[in-house]
Amino acid sequence: MSPFNLETCARSNILALEPYRCARDDYKDDGTNILLDANENACGPSLTPSAVAAASTGSGVEIDFLGLHRYPDPHQRDLKQLLCNLRNTHAHTDKSITPDNLFVGVGSDEAIDALLRCFCVPGKDRILVCPPTYGMYSVSAQVNDVGIVKVPLLPAPEFGLDVAKIQEALSTEPNVKMAYFCSPGNPTGSVLAKDDIKKILEHPTWNGIVVLDEAYVDFAPEGSSLAEWVAEWPNLVVMQTLSKAFGMAGIRLGAAFAAPPVARLLNSLKAPYNISSPTSALATYVVSDDGLAAMRKNMDRLVRQRDRLLEELPKIKGVGRLRGGIESNFLLFEMLNAEGKPDNRVALAVYETLAENKGVVVRFRGKEHGCLGCLRITVGTEDEVTRFLQAIEQALAEVNGGSTQAPADEAKKETAANGVVA
Ligand SMILES: *Cc1c(COP(=O)(O)O)cnc(C)c1O
Repeated sequence: MSPFNLETCARSNILALEPYRCARDDYKDDGTNILLDANENACGPSLTPSAVAAASTGSGVEIDFLGLHRYPDPHQRDLKQLLCNLRNTHAHTDKSITPDNLFVGVGSDEAIDALLRCFCVPGKDRILVCPPTYGMYSVSAQVNDVGIVKVPLLPAPEFGLDVAKIQEALSTEPNVKMAYFCSPGNPTGSVLAKDDIKKILEHPTWNGIVVLDEAYVDFAPEGSSLAEWVAEWPNLVVMQTLSKAFGMAGIRLGAAFAAPPVARLLNSLKAPYNISSPTSALATYVVSDDGLAAMRKNMDRLVRQRDRLLEELPKIKGVGRLRGGIESNFLLFEMLNAEGKPDNRVALAVYETLAENKGVVVRFRGKEHGCLGCLRITVGTEDEVTRFLQAIEQALAEVNGGSTQAPADEAKKETAANGVVA
């Protein structure tokens, strides 16, 4: 039994919050009331009829453009129910999750930040992360003046959790309130072992939250998501997003699945109208039957191109080993020097040649722990993959053939290439 105790784990100022209520929670709007409670614009949105007509045609999604002068629903229970329907697979528990298990936010980025503000006292508490991992956990921690404890993943290609070291850190490092894990990992593409997560959830002395970021879980085999597991574990939070498999990065919709008391805290601390009406309408569409069918079709296309990259990339001279897993919409590959060794100078030069001369932008990840000489390549469409494969073959030939010099201002360019997030 975990010693997790929400009353002593969450910040006291957050525990004292009440969930937001608006007048419309007390007096349900049946469409006939005159709404003079929220200082909205009674004349309607600043949209011309032709703009509304143009925006509404043919999408199949019902966005109420003429209702945009009203504040959106702060609770989003219908959307939450659809997300629950999607994740109640009963692959991991007989229990079911309900809208009370959910927080929805402006991308997973809002959930990452909301969790930090919920549990970590600035200047005192810390989070644990396992590099190489998503940069936003550290950025958000830094913004909140929250410290970071790093326990690297086990070496490639598995990139698994170093459970013994994590357990030890959670036993000995003071004030660690959360551990952020990414599965499938970014940039590793590996699904973490369920048993490893379970061991950490069962830590005998640590009073903290395990956060599992499942941004890429729909690219992994069916049943990989542990979202419904929050019905079993009071100290588990699972984050998901519509930005990747659902192709909806532009609407900014992320979700955090949690035990109801934790979800309640997150809902109490959020800005009441964080989800816009168009975002809600579009999100509702893509997690309904029509949207899911479209998602699965796109998924099949991407998986075919992922398989193609896996087959074709290793045939190219200068491309080294695949590092990490394939359960995602990107692949992490080594770039080799003329001696056949993974090499950051080569990876960086290939990255730049691709971007500056071939019109193909990938990500340099060579400075990440355990990713020496690696580029992270997002799976594109068939045409994009065709162009990319030609471009990278040429770029490697130019770089290793010596016709491209090492970048003049290498330090500066490296900083730009490293980036922080995504
Ligand atoms: C892309 C990504 C996200 C998505 O963030 P949003 O704010 O939902 O767009 C979350 N986590 C990881 C690891 C990612 O790579």
